[in-house]
Amino acid sequence: MDHFNYRDGVLFAEDVSVADIARAVGTPVYIYSTATLKRHFQLFDDALAGMPHLVCFAVKANSNVAVLKTLGDLGAGMDVVSVGEYLRAKAAGVPGERIVFSGIGKTREEIRTTLLGGIRQFNVESEPELQAISDIASELGLIAPVAVRVNPDVDAHTHAKIATGKSENKFGIPISRAQAVYAFAASLPGIQVVGIDVHIGSQLTDLAPFRAAYQKVAELTEVLRAEGHTISRLDLGGGLGIPYRRDNSAPPLPSEYGAMVRETLGHLDVEIEIEPGRLIAGNAGLLVSRVIYVKEGEDRRFLIVDAAMNDLIRPAMYEAHHDIIPVDESLAPSTVYDVVGPVCETGDTFARGRAMAPLNAGELVAFRSAGAYGAVMASEYNSRPLVPEVLVNGDQFAVIRPRPSYEEMIARDTIPAWL
Ligand SMILES: *Cc1c(COP(=O)(O)O)cnc(C)c1O
Repeated sequence: MDHFNYRDGVLFAEDVSVADIARAVGTPVYIYSTATLKRHFQLFDDALAGMPHLVCFAVKANSNVAVLKTLGDLGAGMDVVSVGEYLRAKAAGVPGERIVFSGIGKTREEIRTTLLGGIRQFNVESEPELQAISDIASELGLIAPVAVRVNPDVDAHTHAKIATGKSENKFGIPISRAQAVYAFAASLPGIQVVGIDVHIGSQLTDLAPFRAAYQKVAELTEVLRAEGHTISRLDLGGGLGIPYRRDNSAPPLPSEYGAMVRETLGHLDVEIEIEPGRLIAGNAGLLVSRVIYVKEGEDRRFLIVDAAMNDLIRPAMYEAHHDIIPVDESLAPSTVYDVVGPVCETGDTFARGRAMAPLNAGELVAFRSAGAYGAVMASEYNSRPLVPEVLVNGDQFAVIRPRPSYEEMIARDTIPAWL
């Protein structure tokens, strides 16, 4: 459920007309709904009720500081994968005790900065990383709280580029080696083992792979405890999928996910951490774009819009589907379009053979489900300035990242004195 609905045939974001925002800010523009962000966080928080837990928003899905503050003010933790994301979470007012640091390639600088700034836990992915964290913590006279990310060798049945839990993926340590790695961790002076971490992929539409992974984690918990390790937290990662097509069967709900977590892990007396990104932010965002031209091809009709692959790369990168709807709700979807952007690549195609309402140059469309892995993956390819972001809350809206001017974009380059 989201808060983007038609009122008298006009698309609204909560109580604000999307066309009004487009007029004020220009297009393309990302629009996020505070109410949807809050609702999705609350669904996860409620789903784990009765178990000690922390819902850590996966910052990589949407790292705008205003979005992070919206969630952080509700008590959300943050899952970060770089010191840049860590500093964004801090800028949003989230304390270090609620920030977990994931990722396979944390640099020494990143480890040092986050240890000094305060960190809830490092999700560690290799023995060399354990060694580095221990060394740096010892230098600083600190003890680093650590969970080791295990790779359970489970097929997440999702797009290959976002599956992370198979043995051939670069993530985690093989679960078969977990005992040895935990023994190594326990031998290091700067490390305190606090739990186990797992994350098997993104956009999962079935609970079965999660269940398989969590059963393995439950077994491992008992094994590691028997060997004397303190396993007081289980970080279960993110990955629950969202319905990108309104007309399709929906993925499991957070409540169903929560019930499965309780079933597989509820007996272990642990604090549960989860790291949802897409499910919290995905359907809380639209990308709004204006039609530049309608172009008649040989055997197809192109809808050329002013958003492009540099603004929303998911269709080009993952063959992802986004529903594209008119901002002025009009006629039945009677016209078939290829929806494309202006970038000089054939990959700059958002949809092929899409039945839509008849649209004219100058009219607005909205890409649904664009709040996660949208603006964060935007670039300036083709020297298109970074797409702006707007946050709506009730009847008010604010630009939370302005569109840079061409001058600002160009002024970042410098010409050497010898040129
Ligand atoms: C990407 C990622 C997430 C978030 O995944 P979603 O599918 O957006 O919920 C959580 N944890 C880790 C370690 C990740 O890499």
